[in-house]
Amino acid sequence: MEGWGSPSRHLNKRTFRGSLWLRRQETIKVCHVDLSNPKFFVLLVRIDREQARQSIAQGCRFCGAKLHRSDYPRKPRGCPPEIRTQFESRFSASCSRCRKRMTPPSIRFMARRTYLACWVALSAARVPGQHSAQSQICRALGVSRHTLARWRRWWQEGFVRSAFWQDQCARFMPAIGERALPESLLERFTGPAVEALLRLLLFLAPLSVRH
Ligand SMILES: [Zn+2]
Repeated sequence: MEGWGSPSRHLNKRTFRGSLWLRRQETIKVCHVDLSNPKFFVLLVRIDREQARQSIAQGCRFCGAKLHRSDYPRKPRGCPPEIRTQFESRFSASCSRCRKRMTPPSIRFMARRTYLACWVALSAARVPGQHSAQSQICRALGVSRHTLARWRRWWQEGFVRSAFWQDQCARFMPAIGERALPESLLERFTGPAVEALLRLLLFLAPLSVRH
């Protein structure tokens, strides 16, 4: 992970897939994550695989029997072509005895959305002074204004009402401004940009299995 996402290094040559902007105190801190670099996506797969391995090793939560891998096919949007095949399935398992399914949390996929979770968070954020860069990301990803507005509405309505957020919101002090989601949440994940983004995605991962 080291060496990735060093802040402000490539300010004048942002890649189309975008950056993560984190507002800190009174200044806008620009952190760059080179999201056209497949390495970042390889890391997402690795983390998901490890999470799946751990969850599957625990066995069936209903009857305790062994779980067998039984992945779901996915048709994701927003990942570099070099690594797309590794995003074409969502890790999952089913019980060898009672047949119930267990799908581990994922940092790649957010519920059934076709766009990857990182885009649902990053492109729906409104950061002052970054409007053109934000619309550049959306153009590059082929996300329509309508989709973007829908995602933003989800952050401010569906996310806020979710059992997950009801459990977690008290962890943030001062409280997160829910009318400024998702940027009000993004700005709390600070540090080197890749790390910050990964921590955000790990934080949100439980949402990937609750819908
Ligand atoms: Zn079972």
